[in-house]
Amino acid sequence: MRAVRTSGTSAELAVADILRHLKLRARRNVKALPGSPDFVLRTLQLAIFVHGCFWHGHTCYRGARAPKTNIAYWSAKIARNKTRDTRVRRALNALGYRVMIIWECKLKGPDAVAARIARTIARPLAKYG
Ligand SMILES: [Zn+2]
Repeated sequence: MRAVRTSGTSAELAVADILRHLKLRARRNVKALPGSPDFVLRTLQLAIFVHGCFWHGHTCYRGARAPKTNIAYWSAKIARNKTRDTRVRRALNALGYRVMIIWECKLKGPDAVAARIARTIARPLAKYG
């Protein structure tokens, strides 16, 4: 659902900072690609999504945090998000894009995230998809 996207959140701004620090130019919220990736590095064929742990069902304490009300509603919504995430990843891979998910909880270690981005773009594209 569009309403739950993390567009413009502090998590996204943190990733924008990391990319800037790595001197990587990325386009934001690219609607022309499946799933409207939060960041796209076109020349590197890399699509980056910044995922909220709760909304996308991350296996961390935030993702495991149970909602207090409407439990069935939220768990169905999160399940749908996860299904869509998988579909989007496959569609992007099919277009030749590698996909990187940056979880909100990992942004507490921006250096580690920067290192992961650097490793990802250094890897040959053929390993993806
Ligand atoms: Zn998480």
